[in-house]
Amino acid sequence: MICGLLGEKLGHSYSPQIHNCLGDYEYLIFEKSASELEDFLKSDCFHGLNVTIPYKKSVIPFCNELSPQAKALGAVNTILRKPDGSLFGHNTDYFGFQWMTRRMNISYYGKKVLVLGSGGASNTVCAVMRELGANVIVISRNGANNYDNLNLHTDCAVIVNATPVGMYPNTGISPIDLSLFPALEGVMDLIYNPARTQLLLDAELRGIQTENGLSMLVAQAKESAELFSGKTISNDVIFQIHKQLQKKMKNIVLIGMPGCGKSTIGKILAQKLGRQYYDADEEIQQFAGCSIPEIFQAKHEKGFREMETTVLQELGKRSGAVIATGGGCVTQTRNYPLLHQNGIIIWIQREIADLPTDGRPLSQTIKLQDMYTIRKPMYEAFADFTVCNADTPERTVAEILKRMEMTE
Ligand code: NAP
Repeated sequence: MICGLLGEKLGHSYSPQIHNCLGDYEYLIFEKSASELEDFLKSDCFHGLNVTIPYKKSVIPFCNELSPQAKALGAVNTILRKPDGSLFGHNTDYFGFQWMTRRMNISYYGKKVLVLGSGGASNTVCAVMRELGANVIVISRNGANNYDNLNLHTDCAVIVNATPVGMYPNTGISPIDLSLFPALEGVMDLIYNPARTQLLLDAELRGIQTENGLSMLVAQAKESAELFSGKTISNDVIFQIHKQLQKKMKNIVLIGMPGCGKSTIGKILAQKLGRQYYDADEEIQQFAGCSIPEIFQAKHEKGFREMETTVLQELGKRSGAVIATGGGCVTQTRNYPLLHQNGIIIWIQREIADLPTDGRPLSQTIKLQDMYTIRKPMYEAFADFTVCNADTPERTVAEILKRMEMTE
């Protein structure tokens, strides 16, 4: 059986990976232009399809029958070819978003929910939220409720981002300022790359519950797979695939004093896990076209730190990488969201007496003990957990992997 994802520009999609865990059908990528759509849908080269941007509406005329959800939403994201050759159109985003709402510890009934954006995903979010009894307000750039009159909705309890604002590669921007909403209980973002958009990072800082769109992506795929295979799949599978993907997409970021072993440990970790390894200091040297001591000489520490942030801005957006940072990256609080958006941050600790100082400009001018006293609270603030590199790097790597299993 051949199934697949139909869209215009699919780039890197997680759908094949998810469907490989969901059923024993082949799952292909069908990247088609608008002019190729009709011939493709009338061909018999697929049994089942997922449909994504921009074809969720344009496939409707080719479907012989629509499910009640697809009819109500005016959008189809799953097509099944029936034994008689006719096409059945369904919308599994509805189930996907329902699943996402259940992951929040919130009762939506009677609460004001702001849905940002008025595209296809917004329609699904509004339908589910209305079914849950929420008072739904759509914030649209050109609508009656827009980003200039948000003061009308300071009583909102939940915000759902259904715009692409903050999505990779344009991370670090948020569609809305959360300080306007003192009654906020939860913030949801349909985006899943990065795992924490700027909107979710802002909510997290305020101690507000958050959820990204990965759970929705996996749940909608599960319902599609049930349709393709004709078999019921346990919801436990959603949890399992979600967890696996989260783990795979997460960067492993190593912080710690200069010479604590981040690079050695990072390389071993990357090799063991089959991940890409990045050394922030090496990336900075490439960016600057000269060595770190030369950067310090020409631009002093301030200039070096600015370059470091520029480099971390790019590295932090990656997924599934191992990143060894420079010892002083924690001195700039602005680097935290860059590393945290997609990463688990691990502080590698080592006895001060065992730290080398050669070739490290700051380690040669400041006593390491003094540097450690200043930076200790900064490492603590950045780190998700700490590992001691007191033994061999291999043992430290084993300890990191054990701790990661425990936290995931
Ligand atoms: P879309 O139709 O392209 O855009 C949604 C809406 O976002 C637009 O109609 C627009 O609404 C608003 N918007 C677009 N650009 C904006 C900007 N620069 N600033 C402010 N608002 C902007 O996309 P969609 O299909 O609805 O998807 C929206 C998001 O949900 C995407 O990030 C998509 O990846 C994600 N999504 C995730 C899942 C999942 O399974 N997790 C499923 C579906 C979609 P106004 O013109 O009314 O402002």
